[in-house]
Amino acid sequence: MSVFSASAFDQHEQVVFGHDPESGLRAIVAIHNTNLGPALGGCRMYPYASEQDALEDALRLARGMTYKSALAGLPLGGGKSVIIGDPAQHKTDALFAAMGRLVHSLGGQYVIAQDSGTTADDLKIMARHCGHIAVTEVVDESGQIINADPSPSTAYGVFLGIQAAVRQHLQRDELAGVKVAIQGLGNVGYRLAELLAAAGAKLWVTDNNAVKVDRAVQELKAIGVACDDIACAPVDVFAPCALGASINDQSIAKLQATIVAGAANNQLAEARHALALQQRGILYAPDYVINAGGIIDVHYLRVGMQAEDIRARVDVIGDTLREIFKRAAEQGDTPENIAEQLAEERFKRVTEPSNSARHQAHL
Ligand code: NAD
Repeated sequence: MSVFSASAFDQHEQVVFGHDPESGLRAIVAIHNTNLGPALGGCRMYPYASEQDALEDALRLARGMTYKSALAGLPLGGGKSVIIGDPAQHKTDALFAAMGRLVHSLGGQYVIAQDSGTTADDLKIMARHCGHIAVTEVVDESGQIINADPSPSTAYGVFLGIQAAVRQHLQRDELAGVKVAIQGLGNVGYRLAELLAAAGAKLWVTDNNAVKVDRAVQELKAIGVACDDIACAPVDVFAPCALGASINDQSIAKLQATIVAGAANNQLAEARHALALQQRGILYAPDYVINAGGIIDVHYLRVGMQAEDIRARVDVIGDTLREIFKRAAEQGDTPENIAEQLAEERFKRVTEPSNSARHQAHL
């Protein structure tokens, strides 16, 4: 299996293969960059078709975390882990204990969090063997101890991002009267709908669970539409909050919105769709910038910050997007390219001397 020549390899600092014959653990931890701090990222459990697929996924996701945390202003690097296995069939306490020991052996360079296929309870098993785990319990309104849920912070960050995009692209300071289509009314999407409705926005919503759509229609006076019709709703903003790849050749051709800003990960089906949006005059808020409220929440809860103080930390998302949109307009580039440059300015400058410093050293 190739690592250094894998297509997703991008100067990763460490790639660790973990195997435990007793539990059957086969896992890969990819640490992309730790210039800004330990690499925090989720643990994905998935029945990968091949080991190479698992490696490519770990490498790609770890790199993404470096960029996401740098732009969220967090003292964190980027990493990710994958367990090769079917979460519906192969979960055992022994498997997660072995994963905990693997992460522990990395001495804190990688901090493991929840991702698709793993739950907070799986992480709690790892935590018996490892101190580098990002799972936090909080007390809910009824006094019960529950696992912390980052979704409200994610929704709030997306709300701030929509505000920034509307100001930049529509020159409107208020969301009152702005028309927004939300694709997916799950943990993030429904909370986003509540925030937007409270700000006076007019909502078009869809979900493949009709109960959620009916609730938004009743509670938020939203207009419910079929899943296939959400991309062509007559709105200003399209907010993908369901699955990835919702921005593709077909949806771009249909969009009436002039802003795409939502919570979903990997919204662009292919990298070229960033340019395709720009060519249609549509402003795109890069997904990993606008949906960073979750990781901001996870990080600050882990270091002991009170939930009510975390909201102020999420405000950085609006500031960062304003900077990205401004530079993109000045340079005629896509927000996606500018976000990447800005992240690299932040995490690369920590160890690399600036050009001027290099120049002075030669004089
Ligand atoms: P969720 O599973 O709670 O909600 C997703 C919703 O989308 C569900 O209600 C589902 O029925 C609906 N859906 C699925 N396919 C659909 C389709 N084709 N058309 C319409 N609706 C569809 O997930 P979530 O936690 O709300 O996250 C939403 C997105 O945001 C995901 O892409 C997730 O990766 C991303 N995200 C979430 C967080 C977080 O804190 N939860 C953080 C960062 C990114």
